[in-house]
Amino acid sequence: LDRAYGPSQRQKRIKVLINPFGGQGGAVKTYHKSVAPILAAARCELDVQKTEHQGHGIEIAQNMDIDAYDVVACCSGDGIPHEVWNGLAKRQDAARALHKMAVAQLPCGSGNAASLNFNGTDNPSLAALAIVKGLRTPLDLSSVSQGNDRFLSFLSQSVGIVAETDLATEHLRWMGSARFTWGFLVRLINKTVYPADIAIQVEHATKSAVRSAYRTEASKSPRAFDDRPVPSSSTGLPELKHGTINDPLPPDWHLVPHSHLGNFYAGNIAYMSPGANFFPASLPSDGCLDLVRIRGDIPRHTAIKTLLAVENNTFFDLEHVDYQKVCAYRIIPRHQKTGYISIDGERVAFEPFQVEVHRGLGTVLSR
Ligand code: ADP
Ligand code: MG
Repeated sequence: LDRAYGPSQRQKRIKVLINPFGGQGGAVKTYHKSVAPILAAARCELDVQKTEHQGHGIEIAQNMDIDAYDVVACCSGDGIPHEVWNGLAKRQDAARALHKMAVAQLPCGSGNAASLNFNGTDNPSLAALAIVKGLRTPLDLSSVSQGNDRFLSFLSQSVGIVAETDLATEHLRWMGSARFTWGFLVRLINKTVYPADIAIQVEHATKSAVRSAYRTEASKSPRAFDDRPVPSSSTGLPELKHGTINDPLPPDWHLVPHSHLGNFYAGNIAYMSPGANFFPASLPSDGCLDLVRIRGDIPRHTAIKTLLAVENNTFFDLEHVDYQKVCAYRIIPRHQKTGYISIDGERVAFEPFQVEVHRGLGTVLSR
């Protein structure tokens, strides 16, 4: 038994959140059939609650007793982990709560990136096993400043084709995850552009710099290693180094017009959907977001090739794919009254926003 568990914590105390609305609506059934037996066999202590409305995950995490649990496991898509991190962020003791509480996903939604990346699977039973055996691992979380709000993003921010694909296909929920592929193709064929002004705090500007930063970071001590100091219970969220979207642009930043932007996609972890390693150089706590920009007016056959290259893992090297590592940015959409901005797959207002990464602010379970 010792060998089976290795250094992972036994009998984890898990707050299970089930989103009955996620994916095609099967989370409750999947939980009882494929997940609960495994968590029970591992003698995890379980406290199960269904989310009753949008934002309920925020309320639960904001008010929970963080000393009574080790993990919040979300039977959902990426939406509930996003809410849980944002609930923890709203607390007086945000820094300690985000450090103390590991957030995990049991894949039951249409977007299951959290499970793909940290559990290495989107199979609910294998994910449950990964949570049983998982080790606490730091994860970068980013602050998003928009209007007068500040909230956290653990996965991605997108403006343009990916955002529209995530969000404008809600009515195709019955398709399962195929709705994303379908939505993407339709917009590719239309050569849609999404003009914006963008200012970036770049960490690694060229692909060769990105590649060597990745190698250096990946060769360090094992990924699943948590040596962060425990924050005091009076520490809230870290201060914003670059201010908010309402502050003047930081003096060394420059807004660059992108009039033919097709895809602005910033990611914190590698896999966005099964087989789609969109951010192959990303690492969970490197203090960076990987930023992909692609023009919207490239020839259709090039666009289709790009889509296929994501699945073949040859995407990173394509000449028309701009790939950088960044630690902060501001983006201001232009010339459109309405459009889509997706933060972790959730729709936010179509307004300028600013993002900054907080290295290792959150906690996940990983192998
Ligand atoms: P999916 O990957 O299919 O989008 P998610 O788990 O990410 O699934 O959830 C989608 C949305 O459902 C989230 O915005 C979440 O707040 C919302 N939600 C949670 N509980 C409920 C509920 N009981 N009824 C309706 N929506 C809910
Ligand atoms: Mg990162």
